[in-house]
Amino acid sequence: MRPISFPANVLEPVKKFLLKKQEKLKQRKLELEAEDPFVGDNRLPNHAASDSGAVEEVSHDRVAALKWEVDKGLINIRKTLTRIKLGNYGLCENCGRLIDTDRLAIDPTATLCVECSGKKK
Ligand SMILES: [Zn+2]
Repeated sequence: MRPISFPANVLEPVKKFLLKKQEKLKQRKLELEAEDPFVGDNRLPNHAASDSGAVEEVSHDRVAALKWEVDKGLINIRKTLTRIKLGNYGLCENCGRLIDTDRLAIDPTATLCVECSGKKK
């Protein structure tokens, strides 16, 4: 049985894209940590309260939620890079079939084919 996988010329740009995205997410994480009102210096909460309604919405919970999203993204990227290394990138984790390349173009970290992903929802 011959294992099915994508050729290197397909995987290379995906890898590059993921590494770039990984850097961006790491940067985003640092930014979020700086934004978190619970971390860093304690600015007065009532500072310019009249015209900073939008700023006040950046609460600790919101920042924590965003950070969680970033972490999830980083885990997905790491997982995908490992899959590329192991040679099972683009294979559905559920049924083992190749994931549609159109789907991978939209989300390179997809681990389920359209069919299995549809079943899960
Ligand atoms: Zn599947």
